[in-house]
Formats: sequence, C-alpha cells, structure tokens
Amino acid sequence: MLEKNQLHTVELTGYTAGGLSIARINGQVVFIHGGVQGEVCVIRILKVLKNTAFARVEEILQRSADRQDPGCPHYPACGGCDFRHVSYAGELAAKRQRVQDALHRIGGTDLEPEEILGCAETDGYRNKCQFPVSAAGELGFFRARSHQVVPALDCRLQTPQANAIASAVQEYLRVYQVPAYNEKTGKGLLRHLYVRTNRRGQALVCLVVNGGTLPEEAALTERIRTACPETVGIVLGKNTAATNVVLGNTFRTVWGSSFLEDTLCGYTFRLSVPSFYQVNRNQAERLYEKAAEFAGLTGRERVLDLYCGIGTISLVMARNAKQVLGVEVAAEAVLDAKENARRNNITNVSFRQGDAADAAGFGWVPDVVVVDPPRKGLSPETVQAVASMEPERIVYVSCDPGTLARDVARFRELRYQAVRCVAVDMFPRTQHIETIVCLGRELDRVSQHIYLDYEPSPDMKIPRNPTYPEIKAWVLENHGLKVSPLYISQIKRKHGLPADESYNKPKSEDAKASPQCPPEKEVAIEAALRHFGLIPEN
Ligand code: SAH
Repeated sequence: MLEKNQLHTVELTGYTAGGLSIARINGQVVFIHGGVQGEVCVIRILKVLKNTAFARVEEILQRSADRQDPGCPHYPACGGCDFRHVSYAGELAAKRQRVQDALHRIGGTDLEPEEILGCAETDGYRNKCQFPVSAAGELGFFRARSHQVVPALDCRLQTPQANAIASAVQEYLRVYQVPAYNEKTGKGLLRHLYVRTNRRGQALVCLVVNGGTLPEEAALTERIRTACPETVGIVLGKNTAATNVVLGNTFRTVWGSSFLEDTLCGYTFRLSVPSFYQVNRNQAERLYEKAAEFAGLTGRERVLDLYCGIGTISLVMARNAKQVLGVEVAAEAVLDAKENARRNNITNVSFRQGDAADAAGFGWVPDVVVVDPPRKGLSPETVQAVASMEPERIVYVSCDPGTLARDVARFRELRYQAVRCVAVDMFPRTQHIETIVCLGRELDRVSQHIYLDYEPSPDMKIPRNPTYPEIKAWVLENHGLKVSPLYISQIKRKHGLPADESYNKPKSEDAKASPQCPPEKEVAIEAALRHFGLIPEN
C-alpha cells in the first residue's frame, strides 16, 4: 500500500499528457513532478488516490542526459511551462510519443506519426500574452491548476514588448492605487492584461476590466506607449461576469487602432482583440503548409474549411484550389475573414457564418474538407456531416491528441482511414501540441454502398451532458482531486448550467449550510466543464 511521505526508488518510464513522469510501484501508477523519462529516482509520495498516486523527485540516482537547468526562476511554480527541466529534444520525443499513443490506444490505428516539426525558437514565440493580476496588483501567470498568480514580468515565452507593457501596467496600478479584480468578491477593476504582438514588433493592448473605465486612462496610455513605442492601439475590454473566460464581449478603443495587422504565409491578416490567431506565427506557417500538403491540392479541388476563424487556412488552401468555402460560428471572425480575402485579392474563397455540424446542408460538394475545431473536437453529428459529403480527403488539424484520436475512430466507422499524421510543436516548453491527420476515403464500391446506408452504431454517442460520476472521474484523472456531486452542482450553477437541485439542500432544517467548493476544486471542475463543452474555452 502506498502512503503519503513514503520514499520509493523507481524508474521513470514515460510522461502523462500534462508532462508529469510516470512510474509503477507494484502495478500502481504514480505520477511524478520534476522527473525525466529514463531516470532512476528516489521519489516521495505526496498524495495517494484510489488508483493512482502523485509524487515528487527527492533524489536522482541515474540522471538522464535530457535533464537540463530550467533557466527560469518561476519554474515550476508558474503553471505556464511543463518541460523546462527537459531538453527540447526530449520534449519533442515525448510529444510525438503522446500523439502516437493516443492514435493507437484511443484511435485504434497503428499509423506512425511522421517526424515531429519542432520550433526553431523556444523563447519569445508567443504573439499573444494574457497576464492575470494578483490581489496585490502584480502581473504574472497562474500557478498550475489554480488561480493564484505567480508574479512574473520576464516570462521567456513572451515577447519583450509584452513584458515591457506588463511592467508599465503594474507600475500604473501601484502609482494610481488601482485595485485588481478579486474573483471572490467580484470587486476591483483590472482582471487581465492582454498583449498581441505582430511580426514587426507592433503591439495591440487590451486591458480587461471589471467595468467600463479605468482611472487616469490618459496617464496609462502614456506609460504603455513609453514602455513600448511600437504600440498601435489600446483597447478596454469590459468583463463584469463571474467567469474564467478572459475576454468579455464589449470593447472600447482608448487610444489608436482596434486592430493589428500581421503577415502569415505571405498574406496580410487583420486581427481584432477577440479573433482567434495561432500564438506561434512561424510554426503556424509550417502547420498550414503541412495541412495544404496533406490536402493534396492540384488546382481543381473544392475545399471546405470548417472552423475557419479569420480565414487563415482558407487563404493558404485557395492558392492551389479551385474554390474554398470557409465556415465559422463567430460573426466577427467571419467579417475579418472576408476582409482578409479582400485585402489579399483572393477571389476564389467565400465565407459564411454557421455551425460546422450543419455544413452538409450548405449545398457545397467538397473534394477536401479541412477541420480545425477547438479542444473538444468534433461532435458525432459533425463527423457524420463531414463524411456524408464524401470528400476524397479530410485534413484534421487538432490541438488535443485525445479528442483527435476519438474522432479518428469515429471516422473509421464511416470508412475514412487515417493515412498520414504529423505533430507540429506550436507551444515549446509547455504540454500542448498541435497535430494534423489526413484521412482518406476507402474507395471500393461496397464500402461506398455501406456508407450510403450508414446508420449510427449504438456506441456512437450523441452528445449529452456528462454525468456527475463522469465529471468526477475526469477531474480525478486530470487534476488528481476528488470532487463531490455537491461541488459539481455548485460550479455548474455558477455558470448558469442546469444542476441537480437535490445537492446543496440542507438535510434537515437545523443542518449547517453546505460547504462551499474550495478554489482549487472549482478550477478543476471548470476545466472538466470546458472539456465536456459545457462552458467555453478561456
Ligand atoms: N482555423 C483557424 C481557427 C481555428 S480555432 C485558424 O487556424 O486560425 C477554432 C475556430 O472554430 C474558432 O474561430 C471558433 O470560433 C470556431 N468554432 C467553434 N465552434 C464552432 C462550430 N460549432 N462551428 C463553426 N466554427 C466553430
């Protein structure tokens, strides 16, 4: 039996999706902070759960050549990076393995991913930075699985512009005694600083505020522009909701422009604060070029680009396609996409607002369908809609190997086989990885016939609300925390979701008030609700 504080000598055999290393003790899986695959270490057990345990490295007995100095004073307290103590080559190998394991175990395919495309620069690659603000008015990043801010104005992943603006804003908060937003009380003003930087080093700044104004906006503008003379615009984003979502829906331009222009794959794109744009520009170019290669375009194809955002992939595909239709649910992104096509003089693309699940009804018969969904992947209806259009190829771009692999298995039931796969490291030093899979249609007539008569098999699940045990299991697996139905119902209610009313009721009249969900569990439950698609991504 494992117990807290025990010491064990183990060999570290691999990594979890979150970058913890893995060992087994008498068949029980232990997740270890600060380990490197291949090492033999003495570990100290920190927490024991029913089927797993968590531990940290106490002493390294056999050191891996991949272990390195993290090179950051905030690591590992800051939750931004997961692999700083591992060489970049070791990190890339772990990420490729993760994609392969997901495809094999969840996707049921033995397809080998091609060589992972690593990033030339592992520092300063993020073109979008979001700094939360601590109660004491310090800017930094959240500790892993928490909302505690680790102060940091020198993050190595951010651009120098973002870090300089963060220092200026922190100084402004101090000088003018501007209160930071407090999640518990809902009081205070500044929630987040958001900085987007383009290839030329120009910056668009958004201050996310619990209200419509900030004190001394002119002085704040002056400080930001002095810290970063390349600033092109300062926007105030109003967000008064009790939510983890960073940006609200209302924006007011305090100074300068409300857009930033950037170039990608030789095109110019107009970016507004809320529009989605890949955070690593150089790797995004490689990702999109790889997606175009997987699409196998000859100039004759009709391409449907689902989840097209501001039209980046659509424009890249348009170079070698006959016609491209981009579909996107967010109205502002569709406007941006149209504007981007116009300013780049691309005439063989069009865009429409809509849900990807409805794409089969758009009267468009594509040769190639590209999908680039959010982390939760495709709904079974969307998988079916895509397959029902009978494209020759499907190019699936994904930021979550788990949901990608699940959808690969669903597509196989509809006669689409994964034929190529490559991981592209958009997020060096962190646990995140982007993957592209190309799926090809089985062409024999029998399978086409079967396909046309296809009815969903009983195990193709129609999306539904996850049960409390499912949420509980997900939180345990991904955050190592036990949460009660009471806590789950509290957090669901907080987000306006239907929750079982029988929880939260005192058992008798004189019973004490129900205990309130502690913050770390709240964060974990919210992550689960996001995972199951019940609340939006941050
Ligand atoms: N392909 C783009 C954007 C990918 S991000 C790029 O690489 O830049 C995913 C996009 O999907 C977001 O713009 C989001 O608004 C959109 N989206 C989310 N759910 C959707 C749905 N059900 N139907 C269509 N688009 C959706």
